[in-house]
Amino acid sequence: MNMKPTTTNANLVSAWILNDQLMHPERHPTLLEAVRLADGDHDQVRVVIIESFRHFSALPYHKKRLAFIISAGRHFVEELRSKGWQVDCISAESFRQGLRKHRETHSWKQCVTMRAAENSTSALQEDLKSSFKDAAFEIISNGQFYWPQTENAKPTTKNVVMENFYRIMRRHFQLLMKDDKKSPVGDQWNFDADNRKPLPKKHVSPDYPKFEPDEMTSNVLKEVNSKYPDHVGTTNDFYLPVTRQQSELAFGNFLDHRLNEFGPYEDAMSQASGTLWHSMMSPVMNLGLIDALEMCRAAESRYRSGLAPINSVEGFIRQVIGWREYMHWQYCRTSTSLRTANKWNHSRPLPQFWWDGHTDMACLKTIISRLIDTGYNHHIERLMVLCNYAMLAGINPEAVANWFLTMYVDSHDWVVLTNVIGMGLNADGGKIATKPYIASGAYIHKMSDFCGGCKYNPKQRTGPDACPFNTLYWNFLIQNEATLRSNPRMGPNVLGLRHISEPESIVIQKEAEEYFSNLDFYDGPEYQPDDE
Ligand SMILES: Cc1cc2nc3c(=O)[nH]c(=O)nc-3n(C[C@H](O)[C@H](O)[C@H](O)COP(=O)(O)OP(=O)(O)OC[C@H]3O[C@@H](n4cnc5c(N)ncnc54)[C@H](O)[C@@H]3O)c2cc1C
Ligand code: SF4
Repeated sequence: MNMKPTTTNANLVSAWILNDQLMHPERHPTLLEAVRLADGDHDQVRVVIIESFRHFSALPYHKKRLAFIISAGRHFVEELRSKGWQVDCISAESFRQGLRKHRETHSWKQCVTMRAAENSTSALQEDLKSSFKDAAFEIISNGQFYWPQTENAKPTTKNVVMENFYRIMRRHFQLLMKDDKKSPVGDQWNFDADNRKPLPKKHVSPDYPKFEPDEMTSNVLKEVNSKYPDHVGTTNDFYLPVTRQQSELAFGNFLDHRLNEFGPYEDAMSQASGTLWHSMMSPVMNLGLIDALEMCRAAESRYRSGLAPINSVEGFIRQVIGWREYMHWQYCRTSTSLRTANKWNHSRPLPQFWWDGHTDMACLKTIISRLIDTGYNHHIERLMVLCNYAMLAGINPEAVANWFLTMYVDSHDWVVLTNVIGMGLNADGGKIATKPYIASGAYIHKMSDFCGGCKYNPKQRTGPDACPFNTLYWNFLIQNEATLRSNPRMGPNVLGLRHISEPESIVIQKEAEEYFSNLDFYDGPEYQPDDE
């Protein structure tokens, strides 16, 4: 690549910050390194942020996701400028072209960038490094996660289950630990027995705070509609926090109004609310607008001052410092092999209704319609309804992962591949989750109020009124009995087959086939990352 500058500043250090690296400027690894390379002279550092059209159209991403990322990036530019940084915000066809544009105007002594959290951009950074012959290009380690500071960072070829990983994190960062520094407060690492409750009737959850778009966000919303007209979803009713200050307000609102009941109703689903007591913090956490460990410490202090119960606080900390970090650790270990993993050899395309919500299955209709509007579903809706369905229907894991990447405001490669291909679809051969998360309609009936408004009956497994989750669940068990038997954690599910007679087994398989033959399918476009 020929990138000759038109102006020269022999001492300039460029700091290339990616769109999901909007960490606090005072602690930002790229900025700290850039200032170090500039011999402490802040004025010799020029920050560059690139809005790459290719990156934003790698898939037909939800319009709210795009608007959120672009607006958060521009607010970050404002934040940096207000603190005296010189910033170039460049709109370009690709990252490479953006960097070329930047270099055409500013020569640099060195360019520093933090390793991308996602594989394709990280590979691009490596490629750029080797193509800059006449200027140094440094890639520093990714500082967005906490596990590299702990024993979990030791190289290992052995798998580590999440529970052990999580205990290491708790001990290392002394979260919810007793004075002896070794044992957990409450003498338990896990309070799941107090959680996972369905919603009691008439139990009303608090609203999630809505952040009205300011002028900058309003302009971004218009821009997204004109530049990415064919992308999914809508920009209407944009509600997300886009600055560090708003992210902190959103978190404060969670601590004050939702943390206490987060634990008990973590797994509940409701027709009336898509957020319930969930934090909705993943979008801003994934962009670096709020710090995961600080959030855990703030939740812990609510418990220590007697303001929040242990089961909720532990449940929240487990999600953030446990599951979230574990997923990133697994992504780094499994590298690029995860995207195409397909242990169960599933090949069915995605049903069309996953794109528009047009189905008479009330649970899926509610969840998908909500997703099209907001770009958000909570964890159990993603895992136990959507992925459960995809697993039972034998849908191709990569198509499912691309759909998840497309539809959610908090989606990023590292967190989608691990959760969808690993946890939700067990397509990695059980490295991330030791068993497939499958369930019949009985689970959805128990944990939600969806079934009351559905044309299907969650208690029937055959016949015209049978809940498709039941037909597909039993069909899956019948067809995969031998494989499932070899997994000790699937024992109770397989035992259920004793209650299915041979004639019923034939009817279930026939009705499952009929169900599939009545569906329309559409996988969506292929994933084309900006890595050239
Ligand atoms: C199939 C599937 C797809 C998912 N896709 C995404 C995704 O695109 N982006 C994303 O950030 N999370 C994803 N998750 C994880 C989890 O569902 C979301 O982080 C969570 O629903 C976000 O909502 P919340 O902030 O209200 O979470 P809360 O329920 O309030 O949980 C608190 C925080 O814990 C973290 N967390 C909890 N579970 C996980 C997990 N399994 N992996 C990573 N972080 C976790 C998140 O940062 C979350 O904000 C996915 C999970 C599944 C099963
Ligand atoms: S009956 Fe089945 S399809 Fe209908 S809402 Fe319940 S679980 Fe979903």
